[in-house]
Amino acid sequence: MARKIDNLIEELDAWLRFHKQMGLESLPVTPGIKSFLGDSGTSQDDQDEKNIEIPESLEKLRKTIQNCKRCNLHKSRHNVVFGEGPPDARLMIIGEAPGKEEDLTGRPFVGASGQLLTKMLKAIEIDRKEVFITSILKCHPPGNRTPKADEIKSCMPFLMMQIKLIKPKLILALGTVAAHSLLKTNEGLKKLRGRLHYLNGIKLIVTYHPAYILRFAGAKQKALKAEAWNDLQLLQREYRKLLD
Ligand code: SF4
Repeated sequence: MARKIDNLIEELDAWLRFHKQMGLESLPVTPGIKSFLGDSGTSQDDQDEKNIEIPESLEKLRKTIQNCKRCNLHKSRHNVVFGEGPPDARLMIIGEAPGKEEDLTGRPFVGASGQLLTKMLKAIEIDRKEVFITSILKCHPPGNRTPKADEIKSCMPFLMMQIKLIKPKLILALGTVAAHSLLKTNEGLKKLRGRLHYLNGIKLIVTYHPAYILRFAGAKQKALKAEAWNDLQLLQREYRKLLD
């Protein structure tokens, strides 16, 4: 048995050397290699997404979500907040969850943090109407508490479907919950801000959630706004490239 393995390794070594001499630096990943390396192919999240049929339009998806009872938040919500904006928006802005006013109106970012978001976009010459705005959760967590892991897991497939249907070229993630859920990381916001990330090939920028900025006053708020301004300038540069 040991002899057989030695032979196999020698053969593999010779085969790889031969390809290197031929100028090949990498080899395509075939399904066979994937199964050899034990890649299960799909994650549980991918599986969850597959279990819900993707409607062919954003409007049909909106109707599907209206009656959603996949998590407990359906019991206390007044409205499902699907999001709004052009169905082919180049930029998607993704927040955490609807607040109280969003729950009552059924529209995203209409409260104080929505007004600040509009100002943030205006500062970099982006009209809110050009952008599709939504959030990780579509229903309001009572008392504006942080979304629970199981709620995020239940709702994420809808957001991923929105992204698939809208096909944005750029995403702005607002705050820790959005950044962590989209990038599947636990890195601190400070480390995630100020640079480009990629979500399924789509450029993604992270900044503070406007509600977080509004939690502070005076010098602290000014400092947060200055940091957010750096992120917004990066967003503006990337957005302008899409218009060229
Ligand atoms: S938060 Fe999402 S998963 Fe939960 S009930 Fe609302 S739409 Fe459904």
